[in-house]
Amino acid sequence: MSCVIGIDLGGSKIALGLVNSRDEIIARRRIDTESDAGLGSVIERIAFEIEALKSLLPAGRRVGAVGVGAPGPVDHISGDLLTLVNLPGISNSPFRRALQERTSLPVALDHDAKVAALGEFHFGAGIGRESMIYIVIGTGVGAAIIYQGRLIYGESNSAGESGHMTVDPNGHRCHCGSRGCLETYTSGPALAKHYAAATGEMISGAEVGRRALAGDENARAILRAAGRALGIAIASLAMTLNIELFVIGGGVVQAGDLLLEAARASLRDYSFPAVSARIQVSASVMGEDAPLLGAAWLARRQLTGGF
Ligand SMILES: [Zn+2]
Repeated sequence: MSCVIGIDLGGSKIALGLVNSRDEIIARRRIDTESDAGLGSVIERIAFEIEALKSLLPAGRRVGAVGVGAPGPVDHISGDLLTLVNLPGISNSPFRRALQERTSLPVALDHDAKVAALGEFHFGAGIGRESMIYIVIGTGVGAAIIYQGRLIYGESNSAGESGHMTVDPNGHRCHCGSRGCLETYTSGPALAKHYAAATGEMISGAEVGRRALAGDENARAILRAAGRALGIAIASLAMTLNIELFVIGGGVVQAGDLLLEAARASLRDYSFPAVSARIQVSASVMGEDAPLLGAAWLARRQLTGGF
């Protein structure tokens, strides 16, 4: 079985991992995205890194395919990037086709939350399970639903926009136009905003998490509120779909169990006891490797066909 390359295309960085047939990342590369330079430049620089990774393989071993996770809406069928707020320079572009033509390798592409979910499902917290919901909390909040081993896309490819589930109809206005979305409580920028409102001090969401761990009571209260909101969203998803494993990824889980404990407590208030008793809320066990291994899994599926 040949090696594959997983790529995590981020707003500021692109991470690449060379993955062997035992699903181990055996080499990594990391470059700036610089999407403002346009599609041609991004593809050229990724192709350069792919060549560098290929050159590490012993003679006779080859790279068979490439998988890519992209931030924001994508058409996973055509492989086109749609409107990506974080990557305006390569928005609305035929990314997969361009990378395929440049490298002469089969390329698979999907939304980064779905790709990270695949990594976690096949190689991390989801091992041995049939279904799982992955919620990634970072600058934004996204989700991916895996049911009986398959990703659910919905009828027009928008399944998983769970960051914009309303958890409080009287809550804060969200940038999406709605009100009281999960994202207005849990995203990094939301944690920062709530901390600034409570203390007058503007720090990053990650710093709010660090201060909560260090015992800062304002930061802890904000994390608990975020966890309660997350619990409401999990309860609604579990009551609707009867999926029992929820894996939480993204920077916010580094704040430790405070967020997840609050979520576990609140989901019991908003779901049937028989449902909540079976819900498991776990932190991602793979961290930054989830998107790379998920992208590698997608790449390998290109070679083997089917799920
Ligand atoms: Zn929203």
